[in-house]
Amino acid sequence: MRPAPEKILLASPRGYCAGVDRAVQTVERALDFHGAPVYVRKEIVHNKHVVEQLRSRGAIFVEDETEVPEGSTVVFSAHGVAPSVHENSAKRGLNTIDATCPLVTKVHREAVRFAADDYTIVLIGHAGHEEVEGTMGEAPDHIVLVETEDDVDALEIGDPDRVAYISQTTLSVDETRAIIARLREKFPNITGPRTDDICYATTNRQLAVKQLARACDLVLVIGSQNSSNSQRLVDVTRELGTDSYLIDHEGQVDETWLEGRRVVGITSGASAPEELVQRLVAFFRARGTESVEELEVVQEDVRFMLPKPIRQALAAQS
Ligand code: SF4
Repeated sequence: MRPAPEKILLASPRGYCAGVDRAVQTVERALDFHGAPVYVRKEIVHNKHVVEQLRSRGAIFVEDETEVPEGSTVVFSAHGVAPSVHENSAKRGLNTIDATCPLVTKVHREAVRFAADDYTIVLIGHAGHEEVEGTMGEAPDHIVLVETEDDVDALEIGDPDRVAYISQTTLSVDETRAIIARLREKFPNITGPRTDDICYATTNRQLAVKQLARACDLVLVIGSQNSSNSQRLVDVTRELGTDSYLIDHEGQVDETWLEGRRVVGITSGASAPEELVQRLVAFFRARGTESVEELEVVQEDVRFMLPKPIRQALAAQS
């Protein structure tokens, strides 16, 4: 007989955040207004399913703005871009629509402000992540990247009294807190945002998955491998001693994970659509699981306005 848990618990909040919702809608609207193809620099959000759906509608994903034919429409992803990307796009006469999440833009502004005041900026984040590349591009001569507390120990900064920190928006809340504490020990006069730059969606999904982890034998996280906030949900769950796996969809569930599990929790990263969660729930129902409950930890009602070119096009239509 196929193993089936007695109960499924769904974390709330989970899935799409306001920044992802806005970015995906931006590409959809751009396709409506401009027709295919619309170019998108990098994955608009880090989710395979979303990228494939938009590709099927005529979005063309490129790694670099220099791959976009001159005069075409290009959307910048939710993770943000360096100023050089805007400059290159202007030189190519591209019609740019910037879907950078406003909460990432806020971090860019902090970087610009600290650099203008001649601070050395310690950016807490993951090397190679698009958001980190975009933020570092705002002040490349002023920013140093740290990923761990050990990186903080190894830092050598000319003027230790003129140091600021900022962070990627999708980190582990607990790990980042520890890194900031280490920075404060090493640089007592360090300045920075009031707490950190981790966004509301990352914070809330981690809070919710902590409660979920305590109530379940196994937590499945829907999200793609390159999604930082989804990976952190797995990490946070495992740190609490509960098994957890990151999957793109229900087809990746391994039978052996389910043996002897009574309560299975499900959550999803900020870039994963609810449709994939419901497909996973249907997978368990088809095996005989009858009880499906929501575990609401935080209520969210954050919404962001669409980028200006899209708002203008919508206004012209009405
Ligand atoms: Fe914006 Fe946070 Fe969503 Fe990233 S995870 S797009 S920073 S709201």
